[in-house]
Amino acid sequence: MRRFAERLTPKSWNIILHEKDALETAGVLNILLSIQGQDRRVYADIYGNKCYECKGTSGENYFENRYGDIFYKNQVKPVLGMVRGRMIFKELKSSGGDKTGKVAKIIVQLWPDLVGWRVTLIHELAHVAVYRWRAFVTKDYKNQGPFKKYAGEYLRTNIIRKQLPMEHNHGPNFQKALVSLAKRTVREFGKEIPENDVFWDNLKFELEWFAFAKYGLKYQANKHETPARRKSFRR
Ligand SMILES: [Zn+2]
Repeated sequence: MRRFAERLTPKSWNIILHEKDALETAGVLNILLSIQGQDRRVYADIYGNKCYECKGTSGENYFENRYGDIFYKNQVKPVLGMVRGRMIFKELKSSGGDKTGKVAKIIVQLWPDLVGWRVTLIHELAHVAVYRWRAFVTKDYKNQGPFKKYAGEYLRTNIIRKQLPMEHNHGPNFQKALVSLAKRTVREFGKEIPENDVFWDNLKFELEWFAFAKYGLKYQANKHETPARRKSFRR
């Protein structure tokens, strides 16, 4: 999995499976792939908002998102992958205390046991690319302290895809990033992964879906997704 991600991403992206492998080198983006088990399953509503499992007064189970919307189990879907939290920038200091640059870190959580993990990983890496791009464009990485402005996203289930156009996180920048990762995938793995592998179908579906999402639905910009409300993550 690490090798797969490495071959699709720039050299300055350090794909790691363990915290201890993070590089303290200026300009490097450490991406921790955090593999989650079935016991730590996360659910999302159709907008990709994370849902919490709750118990009612009469013992019934239900799910609740952070806006207080209530769902039954058949109304929520397990999440396959998500960028957890935000991109963190850390100032590197030399022994003399001079600034020597920044190193960035981001965590991608994956539940790889559900379906093929490769397309999920490509999808999440596209989010990472957008975070990275935004950080440079907005210069937010120059701010002191943790990178607060762009909160993470809890998203990506197999069946909720049809609702994804409403999610502004999958807007034009995300699509651009996804397309360039897909091109890279074809260059890197075009000969390696057999043509009849279901991976290519899944990737094609992913691209077609988000290309389709390009048209319209701008007005749907999810009211839940305003930056102010995004601060209220619980993890
Ligand atoms: Zn996504």
